[in-house]
Amino acid sequence: MSDIYLKCIEYGKKYKEEEKRVFCDCGGLLQLEFNPIFNVKKIKNRDKNLWRYRELVPINNDDNIISLKEGFTPLVEYKINGYKIFLKLEFIFPTGSFKDRGATVLISKVKELGIKRIVEDSSGNAGASIAAYSAVAKIECDIFVPENASPNKIKQIEFYGANLHKISGSREEVFNRAKEFSKNFYYASHFVNPYFFHGTKSVIYEIFEDFNYSLPDTIILPVGSGSFILGIYIGLNDLKRSGLIRKFPKLIGVQSENCAPIHKAFIKKELSIQKFEKKQTIAEGISNSNPLRGKEILKAIYESEGDCLIVSDEEIILSQKELGKSGIFVEPTSAASYAGTKKYIKNLKKEEKIVVILTGSGLKSL
Ligand SMILES: *Cc1c(COP(=O)(O)O)cnc(C)c1O
Repeated sequence: MSDIYLKCIEYGKKYKEEEKRVFCDCGGLLQLEFNPIFNVKKIKNRDKNLWRYRELVPINNDDNIISLKEGFTPLVEYKINGYKIFLKLEFIFPTGSFKDRGATVLISKVKELGIKRIVEDSSGNAGASIAAYSAVAKIECDIFVPENASPNKIKQIEFYGANLHKISGSREEVFNRAKEFSKNFYYASHFVNPYFFHGTKSVIYEIFEDFNYSLPDTIILPVGSGSFILGIYIGLNDLKRSGLIRKFPKLIGVQSENCAPIHKAFIKKELSIQKFEKKQTIAEGISNSNPLRGKEILKAIYESEGDCLIVSDEEIILSQKELGKSGIFVEPTSAASYAGTKKYIKNLKKEEKIVVILTGSGLKSL
């Protein structure tokens, strides 16, 4: 028996993990009750992949680990008009996006719970990650995607042997269909299932090690459903609990102006979000008009004294090209964080140490 619990974020009802719950009885979302300690001395000489943070990953038995030795992505210095920033190359992963951080942990948990078949819905990258790690674990998976998702992402999901379901209609429709399907199987969703965040959080431990056990002033990343920013928030709380940091870096979320529910709530200083009347955007990976965990995303941004910025498709395309001139090829969704950074730097009054997260490979969007 494990001492990890899943707790409703609304009313606090708790479930043992063996109950395999993904939602609360009240329909609310769950978070993990799992409060590990980061021990620098223990960790620093281990192999350089995500599993060096072993005690901070909520898997009970090593035999259940499903890993492709992911993580330890490069952190590179870069100049924007003479201003020095750091790029964290989170597209350097087995499947070409940071989603592998979440998938390695979630699929390990799926194995640990003895589950044989899972369901996920995604605009593409999370589906590819879940499909790849399910293949490693020999777990059957059904991936629901919007029929207009990137052809390369759809092919990648099929390549790993997943059962693919192409759904017409909105992103919400895709979610509803997957949720319905998951009545019979386990819902391994990257934005609902809390184990996923306990994988994505590892990026902050890496950054903490990259900067010799300190953190930058500011972290800029694209935000859609929140699987990355919420992981970062959990990781920051882990470091704080371990007595290693006092203050959080500012978390700056970047959204597309065509689909910006978090930005809209943020500028009105609201605590929860409303569905956004979205338009088509090239940044498909953050094109979620109604993120389920909106409240939690806003809390992470407010608590870190961060910000939420919007960028246009034109700015995204320009940014993608600009990065290409330095040999860095990212997909449009990922270029949004660079476009946001250019805006952010323009308005800065004093110098900050900034890490910009590049989330997905350009090969995905050819
Ligand atoms: C998933 C994804 C994002 C956004 O992450 P969320 O978890 O939806 O906030 C950003 N960039 C890329 C490339 C992605 O695949």
